[in-house]
Amino acid sequence: MFIDIHTHVDQYEREDLDGLLERARVARVGCIVAAGTTIASSEKCVELSRIHRSILAGVGVHPQDLPGELGQSDLDSIDRLAADPGVVAMSEVGLDFQADSPDRALQERALRSQLEIARAHRLPVVFHMRESTADTLRVLRDARVGGLGGAAHYFQGSWEEAKSVIDLGFKVSLARPLLRLPDLQDVARRLPLSGIVLETDSYPQYFKSKRERWTEPRDVPVIAARLAELKEVAVDEVEAQTTSNALVMFGPRAGAVRRAISGEREA
Ligand SMILES: [Zn+2]
Repeated sequence: MFIDIHTHVDQYEREDLDGLLERARVARVGCIVAAGTTIASSEKCVELSRIHRSILAGVGVHPQDLPGELGQSDLDSIDRLAADPGVVAMSEVGLDFQADSPDRALQERALRSQLEIARAHRLPVVFHMRESTADTLRVLRDARVGGLGGAAHYFQGSWEEAKSVIDLGFKVSLARPLLRLPDLQDVARRLPLSGIVLETDSYPQYFKSKRERWTEPRDVPVIAARLAELKEVAVDEVEAQTTSNALVMFGPRAGAVRRAISGEREA
C-alpha cells in the first residue's frame, strides 16, 4: 500500500470526499494525511481523521495563511490539536518568501513557535519552503528538530538542497512535478530511495475544467511509477520502500498510519 503523506483533502466538498477516498483505496493508497493550513482547517483535518479511517491529520498554520503574529491563544489551540491521536505531523508549517507573503521575521517567529509544539508532542515536521530554502533549513537546524523527522514537502529543489534536507534528518517528499521536471528527475535518480516519501498535495483544482483531471491521492502510484523508471527498479520496490520510509518518518505516530493502511483503524 501507498501513503500520501501530504494533502489538503479537507478542502473538498463533503459529497466529493467519499468518491476521492474510494478512488484512492482502489489505487492502493491506504493512508492520506490531511494537512491544516490554518487553525480552523487543522481542526477540520482532525475531525476528518475521526470520521474516515484512511485519513490522518497534520496541524499547523501555513506561512501564507498567517493572519499576523500567532498569539498565545492560537498556539494553545495548535498545542491542543497536536495532542489528538489522529494527528501524525506538524504540517503545514514553513517559510514562503514570495513577494506577496507576510513579513519574513513574523513567519520565522510563527515557524519557531510551532516547532516547539512539534517538539513537545514529538511530532515529525512536514514543511513548506518556497524561495526560502536556506532560511527554512537554518531555522530547522537551529531549532534542532531533525531528530523529530519529517519531510520537505513538494520538493522541487536542487541536489545540494535535497542532500541538506536528508543530512538534517528529513525525507524528500516528491509529488507530480517529478513527472515533468528534468532537473527534479536528475535529483531523484541520485537520491537514495531510503530518503524519499510520496505525496500529492491534493486540493480542489477548480481552475481545471475537467474534474477527472484534478490531482488526487490516487495519483501517488503514478508518481511511484515514474520514480521506479528513474531508479530502474520495480514499482513494487518503490511502493514498499517509500511506505516503510513514511512509517519511519512518522516515528511515535506510525502506529495509527499502520492501522490505517491495514484497514484496522477505528474511525
Ligand atoms: Zn500543502
